[in-house]
Amino acid sequence: MLSTMMDVPLTIQHILWRAEKLYPAKELITQKADATPSRSNYGEMGLRVRRLASALSKYGIKQGDRIATFAWNTQRHLECYFAIPCMGAVLHTLNVRLFLEHLEYIINHAEDQIIFCDRSVLSTLENLLGKMPTVGLIVLMNEGEERTGLLPNTVDYEEFLATGSPDFCWPELDERSAAAMCYTSGTTGMPKGVVYSHRSTVLHSLSAAHPNCLNLSEQDVVQYAVPMFHANGWGMPFSAALSGSKQVFSDRFLDPERLANLLQSEEVTVAAGVPTVWIPLLHYLERLGQRLPNLSQIYCGGSAAPPSLILGYRKLGIQMIHAWGMTETSPIGSISRLKSSMIDLPTEKQDEALFKQGPIVPTVECRIIDLDSGKELPWDGKSFGELQVRGPYVTGMYYNDPGQEDKFTEGWLKTGDVATIDTEGYLQLVDRTKDLVKSGGEWISSVELENTLMAHPKVLEAAVIGLPHPHWQERPVAVVVPRPDHINNLDSDELREFLSNKVAKWWMPDEIIIQESLPKTSVGKFAKTELREQLKGISKRWEESR
Ligand code: AMP
Repeated sequence: MLSTMMDVPLTIQHILWRAEKLYPAKELITQKADATPSRSNYGEMGLRVRRLASALSKYGIKQGDRIATFAWNTQRHLECYFAIPCMGAVLHTLNVRLFLEHLEYIINHAEDQIIFCDRSVLSTLENLLGKMPTVGLIVLMNEGEERTGLLPNTVDYEEFLATGSPDFCWPELDERSAAAMCYTSGTTGMPKGVVYSHRSTVLHSLSAAHPNCLNLSEQDVVQYAVPMFHANGWGMPFSAALSGSKQVFSDRFLDPERLANLLQSEEVTVAAGVPTVWIPLLHYLERLGQRLPNLSQIYCGGSAAPPSLILGYRKLGIQMIHAWGMTETSPIGSISRLKSSMIDLPTEKQDEALFKQGPIVPTVECRIIDLDSGKELPWDGKSFGELQVRGPYVTGMYYNDPGQEDKFTEGWLKTGDVATIDTEGYLQLVDRTKDLVKSGGEWISSVELENTLMAHPKVLEAAVIGLPHPHWQERPVAVVVPRPDHINNLDSDELREFLSNKVAKWWMPDEIIIQESLPKTSVGKFAKTELREQLKGISKRWEESR
């Protein structure tokens, strides 16, 4: 028997409709290069979005065509987020920090027809002159810098917009059709394409806004410090619009001073981003004694949020909430909030849960699978295995990518993350399968070692990698960055001493290297592949001294 319910397609057109009709005056703020704000609202955005869609249509863009963006966080980027999928084309956000080789591969693999590009990153694109055969037009977005004129067929965003009409009518769309695509950051091999549908985007937006997730409301002021090219800005542009929240865009300016000033002046209540954005901001706020009274929640994910960071923000009255996700999961997969059953527990017990990555989000299911036997493991908080997930906004395949069978099993996505799940359902990421250190047949979690090191008061950042060892198979090596005020005042013995009563003896890194900075990936995570390459001489030394 079928239901009597209407079969109204779940599309991004509805998110736009809601933002325009219910919250037309709600502000959209973009920070300009001179740090002054440019102010608009959802009502104005709606008209501009129609103009943009109409201009794209006049240019010849059809449903299913891929249109890329190569841009930081701005209102214009948000306009692309709506105009492109709502007219039936596919929004392809390109990561502005990607290696040229990967960028060229992705543009050609997706067969992008137009690229909306910030002038501030145009010079990167110019390196691909003559190597992007499907791209017929480059639309230059943010103000400020002059065009260099190197790339043919460029047009200014506002000029392009002016060719369209604000009366454009949205076509009827199939909710399963492609709305957007992102490529994984690909630390090994070429990046893989994930294609989101209208349906998956609407479901993810609803789930993300849920009180157990980002808990977004119309009263919130949202600033995602996560770039809009990283997994759709964690889906926040859509979930914030659906919730009617004011949105604040930092463009490319993420240094602590500008970030703190923007968070303060626009009275941001909810922010989100990777730990490498929040670590320097915390030290800046501590150093200056500056407070952000409106900011109540920071969502932190993308890599493990060190407990010391969560506690540091707590001291400033800001709740840092740990989240896990991946490009493949749209991307929010789990969020750590206290369950009511934990309210009466002592703080240390509550913190044990809050430091984890938290329960899986609504509509997504998870399981952990033993790395050796392939059997499903119990949710006991101890057994660890590969995390596998399935749900309506989890990708079931990669776009046009042969040889991907090992990434999926029996309808589940193999995340490549190793996790435990406790009796309350809180996921804890032990490591990436490829980052776990296997020493003498036992596993060492690089993430746990990093978190312990980052709890040292003189440590800013720490990354741990396993290097091949002639006797133990692998041994951990730590690379530590001191806080700016302790650059010449931290040595490895002090760190060894600090670790000695906090981790098992055999977990002690064989080497602790202190250096001024750590290599980061295009999305701000520690670049462990690069570190392994940089430190491979250590393995050689171990081999020779055998
Ligand atoms: P990406 O697709 O670039 O967002 O990367 C996804 C990967 O980032 C996941 O598979 C995890 O390995 C890692 N990741 C995301 N969030 C966390 C977190 N809270 N803790 C540890 N690792 C994380």
